Amino acid sequence: MSDLDELYREVLLNHYRSPRNAGHVDGATHAADGANPLCGDEVHLELALDADGRIADIAFSGHGCSISQASSSLMTEHVKGRDAGAAFASVADFQRMMVEGNPPPDADFGDLEALAGVAKFPVRVKCASLAWKTLEQALRDGRLAHAAVTTDERSQ
Ligand code: ZN
Repeated sequence: MSDLDELYREVLLNHYRSPRNAGHVDGATHAADGANPLCGDEVHLELALDADGRIADIAFSGHGCSISQASSSLMTEHVKGRDAGAAFASVADFQRMMVEGNPPPDADFGDLEALAGVAKFPVRVKCASLAWKTLEQALRDGRLAHAAVTTDERSQ
């Protein structure tokens, strides 16, 4: 195993053992559930868009394999504070990385690059992609009925 592989492995284990943004969001405006039956991964995602369409807060819960949990943690860390349009672009960049095995050059992925190697294992791609597909669903169709915040539809 190369030094880089070892480093990536440690990033993923760290996020699996100490997930960032685990739990729930007070005053969530959007939510979605995702499942990957092939592996048994399940994720519930909640987020709060502010009046500018920015993801002010995001949290996930659920259970699954280390790849799905680490990806959920890394995803929430990456998109928190970004606007919905940028989050959609990140989802597209992530899916591209799952096909090409490398992060798009302008993606600014940081620790998310630790998941690039998953592209070599098609079965695990579904594990890594689950949180991202759920994010897309939450932003697109997951608006909660009680949510009072008005979002900028142009960014979606
Ligand atoms: Zn899995």
